[in-house]
Amino acid sequence: MTEENTGGCTCGGEVGDGHCEQEKRLGWHEYFMSVARLISQRATCTRGHIGAVIVRDNNILSTGYNGAPSGLPHCNETNCRIYRSTHPDGTVEENCVNTIHAEINAIAQAAKHGVSIKDADIYITASPCIHCLKVLINVGIRTIYYEKPYKIEHISELLRLSGIRLVQVQVDGPEKHCSC
Ligand SMILES: [Zn+2]
Ligand SMILES: [Zn+2]
Repeated sequence: MTEENTGGCTCGGEVGDGHCEQEKRLGWHEYFMSVARLISQRATCTRGHIGAVIVRDNNILSTGYNGAPSGLPHCNETNCRIYRSTHPDGTVEENCVNTIHAEINAIAQAAKHGVSIKDADIYITASPCIHCLKVLINVGIRTIYYEKPYKIEHISELLRLSGIRLVQVQVDGPEKHCSC
């Protein structure tokens, strides 16, 4: 067997009757970014819901979403605690002190279970902040695939100097095609 999806509609509906809902097979980028999106729905920081999936050779090694450390109250149960910091270019940013970012939680999950993530790629629903990017570089991530840009101007120099790849993936949700 070389290919599982042989195409063709088995829904039993008649051509053009609107009952056929056979889905087009997802590509790998769509697949992993869709998983990251789903994982983001577990996030608990009210400032943003982010999901991350670490992948090597098309296998998922680890996942993470942003939220409080295990056993501590989450932002959606209490409140975000915001702190402000000033970037060297003078821009002031706000972050939540309660929260571990999704990509760091994915790295923590891999470390906890002894899973090597060297030379893996990561899918994140938003581009990493500069702090997470530094850690992604040091754990040996090769390519960061992201969906939405987040303060991307702050990481351009680090990207250039480190050589880690940053690639935007646009996922518009699974298209449905009838091949009756
Ligand atoms: Zn929060
Ligand atoms: Zn971050």
